Amino acid sequence: MKKIIALMLVVVLAATSAFVLASCGDNGNTKSEDNTKELHMATNAFFEPYEYYEGKKIVGIDAEIAEAICDKLGYKLVIDDMEFDSIITAVSSGKADFGMAGMTVTDERKKAVDFTDSYTTATQVIIVPEKDSKVNNADDIAKASVGVQLGTTGDLYVSDVEGASVERFSKGADAVLALTKGKVDCVVIDNEPAKAFVEQNEGIKILDDPFENEDYAICLKKGSDLTEKINGALSELKNDGTIKKIVDKYIGD
Ligand code: GLN
Repeated sequence: MKKIIALMLVVVLAATSAFVLASCGDNGNTKSEDNTKELHMATNAFFEPYEYYEGKKIVGIDAEIAEAICDKLGYKLVIDDMEFDSIITAVSSGKADFGMAGMTVTDERKKAVDFTDSYTTATQVIIVPEKDSKVNNADDIAKASVGVQLGTTGDLYVSDVEGASVERFSKGADAVLALTKGKVDCVVIDNEPAKAFVEQNEGIKILDDPFENEDYAICLKKGSDLTEKINGALSELKNDGTIKKIVDKYIGD
């Protein structure tokens, strides 16, 4: 009996280590059940129309472009949802294979990660109350309380404005909620999520005065050999009109 139990233990141990070995590729990539290599995308899925939940599924422009890239390169896409502020660390530590989250290319981030070519552009805009707004142009930010999403470029720009008092929220939606309750004077955030928030909430609008222009790109661990492969896939997807089709599907006009 003892021998049988010992033998069973050996079998279980061998199977477990074989499984662990099989699920680690050379880049630390995991493998799915059918043995296709997986690529883990780190994102924050509260950023409509780039990434957001439709039921339990994460959809949006970034999710679909990532899917198209993985299809081209022969990987299975797995999306890991986390705080926006954790994405760079997840990527630079190798916990995720790439980060895609309506993420703006900045010199500061380039110190920690590599970026692919840009796949789309965006602007930072200011959301204010429809009536009696204290903020009516970008200069007014200097005397206002401003809601931003922690660790975003909106946070970065507003933190540089002398006189502005910055209120940081972990989600853009929480910053907008504070605005609708009169707890902040305005919110600075990316233009497309701003449009979605204005559609979903009464009594707020986007100022015509835009704030900053930005490029969105995918970030990867420094020196990753995936960067070049993704750039290749991105360029094909740009040239054959796939990226435009995906963007148009979510943004419409
Ligand atoms: N584009 C902004 C940034 O990169 C916001 C991104 C986001 O909140 N998902 O900081």
